[in-house]
Amino acid sequence: MVKFLDLNAQYQSIRSEIDTAIAQVIASASFIGGPFVREFELGFGASLGVKHCIGVGNGTDALEIAIDALQLPPNSEIIVPGNSFIASSEAVTRSGHKVVFADVDPRTYNLTADHVRAQLSERTAAIVAVHLYGQPCDMDPIMELAKAHKLKVIEDCAQAHFAEYKGQKVGTLGDIAAFSFYPGKNLGAYGDAGAITTNSDALAGLARKIANHGRLGKYDHEFEGRNSRLDGLQAAILGVKLKHLDQWTEHRRHIADCYLAQLANVGDIVLPEIRSWAKAVFHLFVIRTARRDELKAFLEANGVETGIHYPIPLTLQKPYADLPYSKLPYFVNTAGGSLLSLPIGDHMTVADCEEVIRLVKRFYA
Ligand SMILES: *Cc1c(COP(=O)(O)O)cnc(C)c1O
Repeated sequence: MVKFLDLNAQYQSIRSEIDTAIAQVIASASFIGGPFVREFELGFGASLGVKHCIGVGNGTDALEIAIDALQLPPNSEIIVPGNSFIASSEAVTRSGHKVVFADVDPRTYNLTADHVRAQLSERTAAIVAVHLYGQPCDMDPIMELAKAHKLKVIEDCAQAHFAEYKGQKVGTLGDIAAFSFYPGKNLGAYGDAGAITTNSDALAGLARKIANHGRLGKYDHEFEGRNSRLDGLQAAILGVKLKHLDQWTEHRRHIADCYLAQLANVGDIVLPEIRSWAKAVFHLFVIRTARRDELKAFLEANGVETGIHYPIPLTLQKPYADLPYSKLPYFVNTAGGSLLSLPIGDHMTVADCEEVIRLVKRFYA
């Protein structure tokens, strides 16, 4: 049996540290704000090499607050990749802006500067660069394009904790970035949690106020904000897990290397291409095959869990049915039927990985 995700196995491996941390939060009643939140914000920010980290309620809020903090003209166009989790586009609409979908590179599944350029208009104000599946976008050309057209860049790092672009961690490259600590993410809380990172003092100050009722002091409010805070229990749990993240990430990379080496030229499988400047963190390991449903069923029948990310791209989702993207010859519009996510994660042993490879080869033999 190879599970797609096994959060309990991870908990068992760090149980005493986690239980101690939880007990400390409860004993000190540091539920909202307090030392555990501050310590995690500082620790996570330092581990990325970014000046500011602001804990928030979840990754979707992180994106929304990040966009709000940019103070773009209302109804600006923001370019979003056509294949992502819906939070990437939802945040744009909820912040009062217009979603413009761009296609993505079929080899890396990320948008590139060329895909962004194809969607530019006079109303374009920003780009949501999603580092999908844990591989960084090619940021230099995106930042150059953004500079030339005075666009802001929001990094969606929900799947890419510790991924590196040319030696620099994602979440430090654009104007502002959003992280999710949803339990199944590479760094996951035991509930909802998220963070915003930025090197800008002004954006950090504004984002922190937006996330906490526009507060200056306890009952002194500069403007109407909202309530989206990282809580003490989640921060303490994340603080424990942060210490293990490098090791878990290396383990994911090792499994990915096995898949990449041993599944090359097997059947009609298209493997993800990892660029020379990228250090991917493989939140997901996504392959393509015309026989996706058959392969998925075969693996399932043999005890291997898989996933599909995503069966329906954003361009074809109901909330965007009145937009023109479903009719465009986008790669994302045709990919949903062939994508398959193989299991990957710190819960897997090398033997598990070899079992998956053996079964995939048997399927095509
Ligand atoms: C998970 C995810 C989010 C949203 O994070 P939540 O913490 O679940 O709100 C945003 N973008 C992407 C790409 C994600 O995978």
